[in-house]
Amino acid sequence: MADHATSPVTLAGDERITLAHGEGGRAMRRLIERVILPTFDSAELRTLGDAACLSLPAPRLAISTDSYVVSPLFFPGGDIGALAVNGTVNDLAVAGARPRWITVGLIVEEGFPLATLSRILESIARAAANVDVTVVAGDTKVVPHGMADQLFVNTTGVGELVPPVPPGPARLQAGDAILVSGPIGRHGVAVLTAREGLGFDPPPRSDCAPLFAAVEALRQADVPVRAMRDATRGGLAAVLHEWADPCGLTMAVDEGRLPVTDDVRGVCELLGLDPLHVASEGTMVIAVPKDAAEEAVAALRSVSVSAAAARIGSVIPRRLAPVLIRRALGRELPVDEPLGILLPRIC
Ligand code: MG
Repeated sequence: MADHATSPVTLAGDERITLAHGEGGRAMRRLIERVILPTFDSAELRTLGDAACLSLPAPRLAISTDSYVVSPLFFPGGDIGALAVNGTVNDLAVAGARPRWITVGLIVEEGFPLATLSRILESIARAAANVDVTVVAGDTKVVPHGMADQLFVNTTGVGELVPPVPPGPARLQAGDAILVSGPIGRHGVAVLTAREGLGFDPPPRSDCAPLFAAVEALRQADVPVRAMRDATRGGLAAVLHEWADPCGLTMAVDEGRLPVTDDVRGVCELLGLDPLHVASEGTMVIAVPKDAAEEAVAALRSVSVSAAAARIGSVIPRRLAPVLIRRALGRELPVDEPLGILLPRIC
């Protein structure tokens, strides 16, 4: 997955993280100077100060933080490093911000192979460069063997808000169109099949990807977006439930319009999961006024990350259920709010 030829240092094949790497002494300084700094080279990091100093590009900023504990660390379509960058910059992007800076906090279990850590750091660096984001600060802690499961990563992202910022779900109106930027449920299914060794061939791939280009395409096309959210934990159903509350309306989705890949459908049927409840990491939900729906889909389809964008339903006056799915023959069924215990450690 990672290209070791681009590694900034040659690591001894069996070197492992020790408690000393997290203790602020010489071992830690060597880790920072040999591995971390060359991987994330940025002016802000090179000062090795207690804090990175940033020049504000815009009067209003967005900030978002998230911790990543995904298991396994590597899965088809991504790894914990790419996920830790894309997950956080996507939260900035859907809030209407252009991601600019990111911090990286590592919690490493004693004995973790240094070469694997380096491979994950390279993945973080690649994902950050891919969205023009600079790693400006970081931290490494090592905990004794058995006190953490290999590696946890925390990232905090800062972005500049680019007007017009979507007003959010409280402003949804009956008649608005609901869109998704691509097929749903791919990340959760990829991680679950990798973890459980379900042996699908080819293995389902995560959709882990940055969404900023899709948000930018909507902005360039002057689409008046009401709300955007990436459909991560809890999937599309969680987003629609979160939107139904503040506006007091019902989100109605047509099953026949939902983009679901064959592998996601297959795994979900096998495990008794509903794709509506399974996480994506490169797919977002967008609400726009009805008249702007066609233009929005066209704008989304013009960029690769959202090439399979589709209009999937609409906002309607409140019914008994806050979220409805229209199945075959016009049957309308309520969609449950996910409980959040089905799929642990997928991000
Ligand atoms: Mg989010």
